[in-house]
Amino acid sequence: MPLSDLQKNIVALLRQKKAILLAHYYQRREVQEIADILGDSLSLCIEAAKTDAEIIVFAGVHFMAESAAILCPDKTVLIPRPDAGCPLADMITPEQLQKARQSHPEAAVVTYINSSAAIKALSDICCTSANALNVVHSIKDKKEILFIPDGNLARYTALSASAAIIPWEGYCPVHQSLNIDDIIKRKADYPGAPVLAHPECTPDVLRAADFVGSTAAMLEFVRKASQKTFIIATETGILVQMGKENPGKTLIPASENMICETMKYTTLEDIYTGLTNMTHIVTLPEDKRLKALSSLEKMLALAKSPPSTP
Ligand code: SF4
Repeated sequence: MPLSDLQKNIVALLRQKKAILLAHYYQRREVQEIADILGDSLSLCIEAAKTDAEIIVFAGVHFMAESAAILCPDKTVLIPRPDAGCPLADMITPEQLQKARQSHPEAAVVTYINSSAAIKALSDICCTSANALNVVHSIKDKKEILFIPDGNLARYTALSASAAIIPWEGYCPVHQSLNIDDIIKRKADYPGAPVLAHPECTPDVLRAADFVGSTAAMLEFVRKASQKTFIIATETGILVQMGKENPGKTLIPASENMICETMKYTTLEDIYTGLTNMTHIVTLPEDKRLKALSSLEKMLALAKSPPSTP
């Protein structure tokens, strides 16, 4: 598809300002089409940390742009829609985490990247859905792990962890909305099609899935699989990239309702206006940034080392 005039203008503006556009797989199609880097939370974090660009425009939700600002203090990080939040990230406050830490003084705190900088600053290490198992396995000296804020990811990780996982009962409303009846119906409609589910889905859904993994892992699965039809249990934005990579395959959303409203806030107009006016720059107090950086850097250091086993 040829780019629209607005898409072309944004690309020209990005180059003119030595800026880079990072976009999550759940963004609108037209935003994904002009992203310099399209990815999941982990890969976008890694790319943000190593880019030479002077300006990072983050098409995603707030905690993602904040993570880029934590990792890149020498860059200007813009979020075109500062109101694009993540309800899951809002399900724990610093006060609640401090209380939980007091109740479990011996526990390590593993924090899903879908969290605010204030929460990361109070954590021992971060994780994403792509590396949660590896992060948990890397903690050898603790018998208990307080895993926040996603309860479903915590329970999924607990299945193969040697430490006791204490889940925080937060959830992603998009993945929580998918229920086992949706999966049963799709399996009946598409017999033989494997179900790929994101670990933010409920335990019932994950038990019924043929493969559980992050968005990047799902993309890899579909690329390599010999099957022709797949049932995809995550936010439907992923189908844009998956479809592009697999023109001969049929991709069925597990539910058409799996749409993250805030991920879809960012429009091309928001990106153009934000970059033109240099508005909505993400800033953090330096002490908070440094504390949050420590938990992110521990995770990124693990990403560079080979995966550990339980
Ligand atoms: S899909 Fe869920 S976890 Fe991701 S940004 Fe939306 S609400 Fe947050």
